[in-house]
Amino acid sequence: MTRNQALQPSVQDVPSNISVPGFLLDNFCHPTRPERLAETPCLIDNATGEKVFMEELRIRTQHLASAISVNWNLKEGDIVAIMSFNHINFPPCVWATHRLGGIVATLSPTLSVGELVHHLKIARPSLFFVHTECLAIALQAASNLLFPPSKIVLLDGSNTTFMASKLQSYQSFNSLIGQGSLLPPVIEKPFKEGEAKTRIAFLAPSSGTTGVQKAVAISHFNVISIVIQAATFNCIGEEYTKWEDRRFRPGDICCGSLPLYHIYGLVYNLHFMLYAGMSLVLAPKFHFENFLESIEQYRMTHLTIVPPQAVLLCKHPAVKNYSLSSVRYCIVAAAPLSASLTEGLLRALPNVVHLGQGYGMTETCGTVSMFPLSQNVGTLGSGGQLLPGTLAKVVKEDGTIAQIGDVGELYVQGGQVALGYYGDKKATQETFVDGWLRTGDQVFFKENGDIFIVERIKELIKVKGLQVAPAELEGHLLMHPSIADAAVIGIPDEYAGELPMAFVVLQPAVATLAEQDSKYAMELQLSIYKHVADAKSKHKWLSGGILFTDVIPRNASGKILRRILRDARKHTLTTK
Ligand code: AMP
Repeated sequence: MTRNQALQPSVQDVPSNISVPGFLLDNFCHPTRPERLAETPCLIDNATGEKVFMEELRIRTQHLASAISVNWNLKEGDIVAIMSFNHINFPPCVWATHRLGGIVATLSPTLSVGELVHHLKIARPSLFFVHTECLAIALQAASNLLFPPSKIVLLDGSNTTFMASKLQSYQSFNSLIGQGSLLPPVIEKPFKEGEAKTRIAFLAPSSGTTGVQKAVAISHFNVISIVIQAATFNCIGEEYTKWEDRRFRPGDICCGSLPLYHIYGLVYNLHFMLYAGMSLVLAPKFHFENFLESIEQYRMTHLTIVPPQAVLLCKHPAVKNYSLSSVRYCIVAAAPLSASLTEGLLRALPNVVHLGQGYGMTETCGTVSMFPLSQNVGTLGSGGQLLPGTLAKVVKEDGTIAQIGDVGELYVQGGQVALGYYGDKKATQETFVDGWLRTGDQVFFKENGDIFIVERIKELIKVKGLQVAPAELEGHLLMHPSIADAAVIGIPDEYAGELPMAFVVLQPAVATLAEQDSKYAMELQLSIYKHVADAKSKHKWLSGGILFTDVIPRNASGKILRRILRDARKHTLTTK
């Protein structure tokens, strides 16, 4: 047996008796070249240039776990929420929680108070790591829920001087690390055989196929499995793969601008790239010119991006001012990538060798398929091929199984398929059916295994790769005093992919006035736009427009017929 075979488990052999940090920090990191450990940082802070190496990550995780245990007595199954921009302190907060048997709920740092309250009600955390920029929102939500401020910890330490007096009353990551260094180390309670399959590691936000945002329960096994599935698919650690042919080599450097609260950033960027022995340059917020600058500065070899970033790379005039010659690999995922954008990326990244799409969802721990090793450039328009250990079936509208080339809804099985929706039995039963996950995506397969995502049939809009649940916006629109009924659809947009657009039925008296007075109608539209903008994250704002209509089309069971609305919009455009 070679060293690599010994170190890297196969997809049939994913360990089910270790936790995520047990896997990543203790056992399997850098499977290909352990000797590179010393010289390759795991994380680089894009803002400060600080480098964090594996040993330091382990130590910070250890000290933090000790301090959390002493201060809050975190128990097995307790939940720790994290609301933060990307930061080098984020990963130790995750793994320290896991060391103590806790569950991490990842939350977007741009949530509004109302949105945060919704998520905190689901998770009911025992401890809350908050970035200082999110503190004001977090405190309002906390006071709504009577969540004690003593359970809030500042994840990024105190780096804002103007708030210094207020900040002093909170524990910070740094103070806990200092305290933990003086405490006895926490010994992680080992999992029994099979336990990693049932123990939840993460609660990740997703609205699934219908309804409002929920928390996807992702097990330790799911995370370990997807990392091994992706590693196997890409032949990481296979000694027969020549160094120059490898997609991922220890010492490679990957951009880290995908948000860590989203599954794509959390699993593929953080856990997978570290497993591959690479460095991740963590950027707190995405700013395109900063992004270009850091590609050049750090000689980044790998880009993990979403389609709007691909649009910028193809079209933004600033691209010509930077050298992107170091980039060898680029994957685009979370929403469809057109053939013309793929071709544009090939021009923008002069030395790119591996370029293609990944397809997946939060409920599959991020990935179902990605462009295979046999294709340096993934088949244009394809979401790639199934990861090993993934089973798929395509179910046609009449309930029969599709053949190659036939379109139908994709169902998947595999080690990466999550446990269900936390605390939501009904939604779990609707989506996790007889051991299969219903993706809500309409697809077909080609003979060679390439998958093509044809349409999203679930009630989900994706704006810049981020989820917008129509039901959430519809529920909120109904709270506007002038609105009697509402429906929200996604309309195509070249940059964002889609934008939310609302069809609104006004209260009868208001509708009569709006018909008679166009100025009043415009003010009403503004007021509705503001109603959403004041309460929701920016990507949910009704940037696709607001259209007044007489009735929202529904089927007999009350389900909104969105296809009719999409057609109606197209008709309005063509008759304008
Ligand atoms: P999320 O859970 O936020 O990752 O969203 C998952 C959904 O994004 C999938 O069910 C698809 O509808 C969509 N999606 C992800 N990747 C792709 C892709 N490469 N092409 C088309 N749609 C995608």
